[in-house]
Order: sequence, then C-alpha cells, then structure tokens
Amino acid sequence: DPPVLQAIDLRKHFPVRGTRSRKVVHAVDDVNIELYRGRVVALVGESGSGKSTIARLLAQLMPVTGGQILLHGEDATAKNRKAFHRYVRRVQMIFQDPFGSLNPVHTVRYTLTRSLKIHRGRLRGVELEAALDELLDRVQLRPAARYIDKFPHELSGGQRQRVAIARALAANPEVLLADEPISMLDVSIRLGILNLLRDLRDRLQLAILYITHDIASARYFADRTMVMYAGRIVETGDSESVTQDPKHPYTQLLVRSAPDPDDLESRARGARGEAPSLVAPPTGCRFNPRCPFATDLCRTEVPPLIAVGEGREAACWGYSDREDRPSLGSVLDAYG
Ligand code: ATP
Ligand code: MG
Repeated sequence: DPPVLQAIDLRKHFPVRGTRSRKVVHAVDDVNIELYRGRVVALVGESGSGKSTIARLLAQLMPVTGGQILLHGEDATAKNRKAFHRYVRRVQMIFQDPFGSLNPVHTVRYTLTRSLKIHRGRLRGVELEAALDELLDRVQLRPAARYIDKFPHELSGGQRQRVAIARALAANPEVLLADEPISMLDVSIRLGILNLLRDLRDRLQLAILYITHDIASARYFADRTMVMYAGRIVETGDSESVTQDPKHPYTQLLVRSAPDPDDLESRARGARGEAPSLVAPPTGCRFNPRCPFATDLCRTEVPPLIAVGEGREAACWGYSDREDRPSLGSVLDAYG
C-alpha cells in the first residue's frame, strides 16, 4: 500500500524575530516522512531539533518553505478554506498539554459535540448521544455519563488527554499527529495513553506520527523510528534495530550513554559544546561539532541518508564508500 501521508523534502525556515536582516532559523531541512495505515512512526530528537515544526507543517497550521505534502499520493497543500477543511478532517493533531488545548469553560459534551458538528455535520438527539458515547468508549472513558458533563479542571491529566484524543477522533481521521502526547503526564499513566493510541492504531488502522524526546518510548510504541538532529533526519529504521544497534554517532549517544535523555544532553554538551545555532547551522553534517569522529568531509558536505541495513538509513559519512570517510569508533569511549 502507498503511504497515507507523505512529506517530500520538507523545509521550514523562520525569519529571525526582531531583526531586519534576512537571516532565518533553519528549523527543518530536507525531511522525508511516510506514514502508513495502521503503523506508528516515532520522531525522536532533543529540544529545538524541529519536531513540533514538522507536526505543524504536516497539520498545515503554517505554510512550508519548501517541499511537498501528499495525501494518498496527491498534493495536499491546501489552496483554500474548503480544501484545508477536508485536509484537517483526515489529519488531526494531539498536543502535549491537554489542559492548554481544551477550553476550560467548555464541558466534555460541548467540546466533542462541536468537533462532531464541524466534521460530521449536525447530529441531534439519540444520534448525537450515541456518537458521544462511542467517542468516550473509544478512549476508554466509561461509563460516558461519568465524564460527559465535566469541565477540564474536573478531570485528571490522563482523562483530559483522552478527551483531546476523542475530539480528534470525532473527525474520523486517517492520520494522528501526536506531539509529545505523554510528556506532561504523570509517569504512572503514560503507558495507559500509549496503549490507548496503540489500540486506536489497530482498531481504526490509524497512521500515527509519535513525537517524543524519549527513545525508549519510541521503541515501545513505534514501528519505525526517525531520529532528528538540528532540523535534519539523521537515522531511520525499525524501532527495534535503531534502539538496539544505533548507527549514527548521535543516535548512539542518545541510546547508550544514559537512560535519561535530558541527562545525556547535558553530558554531551558538557563534553562538546552546545547544540548548534539553527540561524547559522554548521556546514556539512550538523552534528560535526559534537562528533568525536568528524573529519574535513563531515565539516564541508552534508551527508545523505545512506543505507546501513534492511530498511535502515543513517546520514553519516562513516557509512559511505568515499575514500576520505571518517572511521567510526565507540562513541562512549570517545566521550570518556
Ligand atoms: P521541543 O522538544 O522543545 O518541543 P522541537 O523539536 O519541537 O523542540 P521546534 O519547536 O520545532 O523544536 O523548534 C525548532 C526550531 O525552530 C527552534 O530553534 C525554534 O526556536 C524555532 N522556531 C519554532 N517556531 C518558530 C517560530 N514561529 N518563529 C521562529 N522560530 C521558531
Ligand atoms: Mg516540540
């Protein structure tokens, strides 16, 4: 089957705020993504690597600087309100903070009824009640009567996120873009939300983009994992192999040095300077200033994604057949 949603050479550059210069933030460059029915793709990367920008581009909440978005193989760039409306019915987004994304003065009933009305037309009476019941059942808020007249502040964080998911499902979408859907939730209920999303993937055959800092949760939940660094994809593959046998030095650092990715980030920074500026990103491989194996080649030419095994790619010159390629070693030894 062809992908449901596909991004080709996606690019987003933001003008630098508060200056009159032509400088831009290179938030996303040359990113390719394919989302398939009933499959989850994880997008993993540290803060500021461009993950949310990709989600917002795919949701068409802002225009692309370059590249294409295809829905079922057809150019999906919304040219007018009607086309945009058709698009968002199929491609729904879930945000990190369900408190922020649910209106505090609206009950669950109001929020879901409104989404049903927008996407499925006006439902009334028993039809409406049945649709509301079904939505709450889908997100395992049972019995519906216990939740339907509640305001967001009367619900727990996990329940709020379930309502936000139900609101997205009201559109009958084919694609869910989930931007760090569990990172603000209590650790004890995170798994419950991932299991719910997995259940929706299977029962509704949704294509899901799962955005996270946490590569361990990507391994648990996603079929494929894409690792981002400073606006570019540096590694892709099935989640199991990417986490078991990471190829790109950045992914190796991410996976191997620390169970806590935030701790890892600070260690890596301590060892080798800050994450790069996206206004003047490093030439060549954007990871080169922090990479213990970087050579002149890495500092001058952008590495393409190179096949490094079955369904796997890494954007690292170390895997090329160029004579002047760097030789890779143990990234952990190199960092000491
Ligand atoms: P986090 O993990 O912290 O959510 P992220 O990976 O989602 O980070 P983005 O929010 O996509 O990262 O940001 C990528 C880069 O683009 C950052 O340097 C950010 O400052 C910049 N950026 C994002 N939105 C804008 C904007 N509207 N205007 C200017 N720069 C922006
Ligand atoms: Mg983000």
